[in-house]
Order: sequence, then structure tokens, then C-alpha cells
Amino acid sequence: MHFRKLSEYFDKIENVSSRLEMTSILAELFKETPGEEIARVIYFSQGQLAPPYKSIEIGMGEKFVEDAIAKGSGYTKKEVHEKFKQIGDLGNVAEEFLKKKKQESLFSTELTIGKIFENLLKIAKTSGSGSQGLKTKLLAELLNNASPVEARYIVRIPLGKLRLGVGDPTIMDAFAINLSEEAKSNKKLVAEVEKQLKEKNEEKRKQELDRKIRVRVREIIEDKYNIHSDLGVIAETLITKGLKGLEKIHIKPGIPIRPTLAERLPSSKEIIKKLGKCGVEAKYDGFRLAVHKNEKEVTIFSRRQENVTEMFPELIEAVRTQIKAKGAIFEGEALAFNEETKEYYPFQITIQRKRKYGIKEMAEEFPLTLFCFDLLYVDGENLMPLPFKERREKLKSIIGRGKRIALTDSIVTDDPKKVDEYFNENIESGLEGIIAKDLNAPYIAGARKFSWIKLKRSYKGELSDTVDTVIIGFFKGKGHRTQFGLGALLTAVYDEKDGMFRSIAKIGTGMKEDDLKELHKILSKISEDNKPKNVDSEIKPDFWVSPKYVVEAIADEITKSPIHTAGRGKGKEGFALRFPRMVKLRQDKTPEQATTVLEIEKMFKNQKNVKLSE
Ligand code: AMP
Repeated sequence: MHFRKLSEYFDKIENVSSRLEMTSILAELFKETPGEEIARVIYFSQGQLAPPYKSIEIGMGEKFVEDAIAKGSGYTKKEVHEKFKQIGDLGNVAEEFLKKKKQESLFSTELTIGKIFENLLKIAKTSGSGSQGLKTKLLAELLNNASPVEARYIVRIPLGKLRLGVGDPTIMDAFAINLSEEAKSNKKLVAEVEKQLKEKNEEKRKQELDRKIRVRVREIIEDKYNIHSDLGVIAETLITKGLKGLEKIHIKPGIPIRPTLAERLPSSKEIIKKLGKCGVEAKYDGFRLAVHKNEKEVTIFSRRQENVTEMFPELIEAVRTQIKAKGAIFEGEALAFNEETKEYYPFQITIQRKRKYGIKEMAEEFPLTLFCFDLLYVDGENLMPLPFKERREKLKSIIGRGKRIALTDSIVTDDPKKVDEYFNENIESGLEGIIAKDLNAPYIAGARKFSWIKLKRSYKGELSDTVDTVIIGFFKGKGHRTQFGLGALLTAVYDEKDGMFRSIAKIGTGMKEDDLKELHKILSKISEDNKPKNVDSEIKPDFWVSPKYVVEAIADEITKSPIHTAGRGKGKEGFALRFPRMVKLRQDKTPEQATTVLEIEKMFKNQKNVKLSE
């Protein structure tokens, strides 16, 4: 497939505003893409070269991309830089300069997707001294042969600013459209769906059937994606082997599983009402890690599914010596524990372990303990469908003696008073609260369905839990804050219904000067002039940013709001956080793992009967 074709599709996607239109353009693109190229098409459409867990970063700074544009177009570096200052998007600069290209190359070859991939991969893999020159050369070579539209995207991929707004849900929706026909020939699936139909009118009934089949297909795709986090592989299977082909994809150590998420309820009474007799565990505040063991090979993934193996040498060692299974996938929370005083260090200490340099020294000074809470796979057996109590038993049985790997502390009870006591004990020992677990639930990858319910520390008169919001924009600082370039954040919550981020709060307090500087630094790299496609907000910040960073916020309460869009519906106002304050940046969460609109609705209803456990 030629990259020119793909760029034309990208251009179409960039020019539509609704998610529905975007989905049908993607569906068309996927129909046209051959199986052997679909994985790359998927990665490119999200500005990547591989699934996120492979952690391949192209990492080219603006300066070097400017050089490559100059080389590839025949303009001077100064001209490129001036134009960039004027229009603010290097992709558009490349496009414009290639339209009036001064230096015609002698043999302009058609660029294939394969060629683009090859050069970008080389760019990603080149490092060390002198590497920037080579990176620039590889990018310039592509630009030299590119048409103007192709150039726009070739430049944006290494900068990590594709601006298409294609998220995983949209890709899965597009496949669901394409595979619905195949599903209609699956008698069992159709019979299952027909049972749920409510319409009597024949025409409408047919439409309802079509829609429900599409929803079911979407679920089948997502269920597989949840246990095999590589949309490229899923897509290739769908194109070459159809929906049935997915049955052959199984969980495998080394490929991350999407984490289950916790629901929240306002009190221990409600938790017991919901779950009955349940497991109640200490809620540790550290890094959630998924450990994959395959013989001697150990891989660790963060909650965002980045490969963080290198960061935790002491845990790798402990997995090799303490885990009594050849193959295993298990999860836990890692935090620094003071052996002398037998106390947990505060999160500020643990977070220092998130680093690229000085890992060994820090691992010696503040070694982590991994408190394990779930086992998903052991020696060839998928444990996810088993009830939690059985998984925990097996987990216990594979942890051998040693210091660094332990089981989470827990009790089993159906008494709210016991839950409260246990909660208070945990708070006193410096932990965050508790997580109650349904003893009979399977492991539900990638979703929250009341199999886990958290109860965090509550503050008098404030929300009984923090809210994880997603940054969608920021405001320049005023007065004293002018010097930091950032004075407040515009934040949103995630709407699972349609993958949109809807505004809920403007946060201007809770940040120290260093936070303001750090936020400005990371946000200005991803700021945009126009509202990103997956953002819904009527408040216009000075700069938009594409939803990427999660900020934990505390607030006095949730109120109705005429200006925010979270939870807004026909004749229904949205929700806002009243007096929101930033607690911390949650680098461990993806925007889709932030608080959802539905959770906010539930919290709003619940807050009236919040009983603070103090
Ligand atoms: P939250 O991040 O507030 O949504 O709470 C859920 C997170 O709590 C999980 O993703 C884990 O990182 C963390 N956690 C701490 N202790 C436990 C535990 N015992 N069981 C499950 N998750 C835990």
C-alpha cells in the first residue's frame, strides 16, 4: 500500500468533526488495507510504530525536524523556522514548502508504508553521539520523495503530534462495522442476540438486530484486546482470519493485559450491601505493576502498560527467586518500605523510583516491596475466569519465602463495622484506605464492574474520594504566575459512552511553583491551537492540549453547572467540581483510566448520604 493513499485517508479524518464520520472513514480504510499491512496502518493512525507496551519512541525534537524539512524541501533552516513560528505546526510547514519545492529530486519514488516504517524505526533505534545527524538524514530522505500531504503526516509522526484523535475505541468500532456481515452468518451469535430484541415492527426489528450484532461484535473484539494489548495483532487477525480467528489468541506472558479498575462507594455499609461477604484489602499507594514471568525472563508493565522492567532490578531478582512457578502473570502494588521502623514510606519517596538514571543506587537506598493482589495466569493456565478467592489461594501458594514479594494484607468479612475498623487501622499505618473485592468475581480486564470497590481516606466536608481528571487545556498565569507560563488547568472526565473527554473543572490551586513549571514544560509540548476532536468543552483555555495527562484532584463537592459539559444532556446541566485543588499528577494512569462521567453522576447522587468514617 502506498503511503499516499493512507495520507489521503488521514486528511479526510482530520477534516471531519464527528466521531461517527471518523469511524466510517476508518472502516473504509481498513477494508482497503491488506492483512500484512494493517498492523502498521493501525500504529501509524495513532502516531506510533508499535503497541505502547513495546515502548518504541521515535523521539525527534522540533529543531532536528526543522533541519530535515529544510534538507528535504530545499529551503533554508531559517525559512523553515520562520514559517514554523508563523503557523505553529511543522507538519503544515513541510506540506507548504513541498508544494513549492525548489529542489526537484531526480528520481521521485512512490513511498510505501513499508519504507516509511523502516526509516522511522531506524530513527527510533538510533542513539548516541552523532545520531541526530543520521535521524535528520533519514527523515529528509522520506520528505524528499513525499507529496505535500504525505509530508504533513511524515513530519507529525516523529513529533508525536498526529492530530487525528483516533483512539482505540474508534478503531474497534470501525472493525465492528466491517465484521458485522460475517457475524450475521454465525447462527449461534444471531440466536443469542435475537433473544434480546424488543421491537415488534419488522423493519425496526431488523434495524435493532443489525445494531445489536454490531455491539456484540465490538464486545468480542474488545474482550480479546483486553487480554492481548496489541491492536495491530488483533486487526491483522480480523482481516486475515475474520472474527473466528480471534479464538486462537490467548493470554501470554510478555503481552500485557488491560488492568481491572476499581469502582467506588461512599461507605462500608454500602460496600457490604453490594458485595455481602467480601475480601477487604489494604490499599497501598505506590506503583501498580503487572509482572510477567516466563522461565527466567521477567517483564514488568505499568498500569499504562509501559514496559518498566529496567526500573525495578530488585523486584526482577525477587521474582526469579521467590515465585515458585515457571510461567506466571500477577499484579501488585510496589512501594518503599522502611525495614527498620517497619513503616511505609510516603508516596513522595516511592515515586522517586520512576527514573531513567541512578536506578541501581536508588534500588539499594529505597528497595521496593511488591504487595501482590491477583494472579491471572500460571504455568499455561488462564486463571482469569476463576472466582477471586481461588485466584488468591493460588497466588498465595506460588509466593515463596523472601523479603521483596508479599501478599497484600486482607480480611474477609460481612460486617461494616469490621470494615471501618480495618479502614482506620490502615489509615493509621500510612496507607490510602481499603479495596473491597468480590470473592466470586472473575478478573475483569479493562473495566470496572463492582468486582473491586475502593474506599479512600475522607476529609471532613470534602469529597470522600479524589477525582482523577484529564488535562484538556491550560491558562496562562496572571500576576505572580506569569513567570511560569501556566496559571490554571482545564480538566475533564472520560465519557465511556463515546470516548469523549468532557470538562468538569478549572483547577488553579494545589500546585506549588515547581508543579507549575513542570506542568508548563510537559503541556507546552503537546499544546494545540484547536480543540482536540475527542474533547467536549465550552470553556476555551488559552491553549488546548490533547488528553494525555491525568491529575488527581480533591474538591469540596460536586455541583450542577451550566458551563461544564460532563454529564450534560437534553435539558440537563453538566457537573462541576466545587473548589477543586490539584493533589498530584497521576503519571500511572492513562486518560481512559481517569474518573468517568458515570462515576461522577453516581458520586453526585451519593454525596448527600456520605458518612465519613473517622
Ligand atoms: P485508584 O487508583 O484510586 O482508582 O485505585 C485503584 C488502584 O489502587 C489500583 O490500580 C492499584 O494500583 C491500587 N491498589 C493498592 N492496593 C491495592 C490492592 N490491595 N488491590 C488492588 N489494587 C490496589
